[in-house]
Amino acid sequence: MEEERNIRPAAPDGWPRPKKSLGQNFLQDKNIARKIVEQLRIAPTDRVLEIGPGPGMLTGFLLEADPACLCLVEKDHHWAAERQSVFLTGAGAESGRVRQVILADALTMPWEKFHAPWKIMGNLPYNVASPLIWDILSKAPGLTRAVFMVQKEVGQRLAAAPGTSAYGALSVWVQSFAVPRLEFGVPPQVFRPAPKVHSAVVSFTPLPIPEQPADPEALSNLLKLCFQKRRKQLGGILRAQPNWQPGEAEKFGVEQSARPEELTPRQFQDLAVFLKTLK
Ligand code: SAM
Repeated sequence: MEEERNIRPAAPDGWPRPKKSLGQNFLQDKNIARKIVEQLRIAPTDRVLEIGPGPGMLTGFLLEADPACLCLVEKDHHWAAERQSVFLTGAGAESGRVRQVILADALTMPWEKFHAPWKIMGNLPYNVASPLIWDILSKAPGLTRAVFMVQKEVGQRLAAAPGTSAYGALSVWVQSFAVPRLEFGVPPQVFRPAPKVHSAVVSFTPLPIPEQPADPEALSNLLKLCFQKRRKQLGGILRAQPNWQPGEAEKFGVEQSARPEELTPRQFQDLAVFLKTLK
């Protein structure tokens, strides 16, 4: 609570004080909002889900794009109720298009039940962006496109290439399920209250299901193991694995002396499956 009272400047007229605990830095710039929504490439038949609509800056442009179904997931009671009332009374209220607000924590959504085609977007609260993107990309089978605004450094990690300093577990995981693209940067002054960090908009095009990891759990375990020790050599990291023989890594075109940050997502996936066969 103390944190929330310290946010300055106060909220725009008539708004409740933004909650820092919910990452409430609200976008004020309509041109940027329009540009973000355009990245989702909405067609009239699309189902679209927005995470964290808040006062609705992105939602307004999503409504203009008029997808067949627009669903909002908001954790804040006030903003969920406000978006609901706009849906009930707004111009499209009788259009027959599906418009729904869900008062929920997006971190607890059953993404694995999203079998139908969905496009997902959000100006994500910075404290939950990485785990949310981790889950959505790997669990939602019907995902056709996603666009998220995240902290700039997170955007760089999501899109990082092997061998670079930003490349880590999040990069490998996300790139095993989708092709991320850093679309553009967004400066702090277009938000209210202004965050201390710069933001970036990242789009994701999911890979065809057959190209996604055969064993996501094994991959996740391997990434945790490897990136806890990213400066160590692979041979040393894997030595303690059951039945691991020196030289095994070479089967995957990987030197024993390679460090985790040098492996491609495909090499991690193959290695994860292989390690499981050893147990
Ligand atoms: N979309 C608005 C915009 O661009 O101005 C608001 C973005 S604000 C950065 C993040 C929004 O996500 C807030 O409305 C906040 O209440 C909501 N939020 C925070 N944590 C959430 C969670 N776990 N699940 C769903 N919504 C959440």
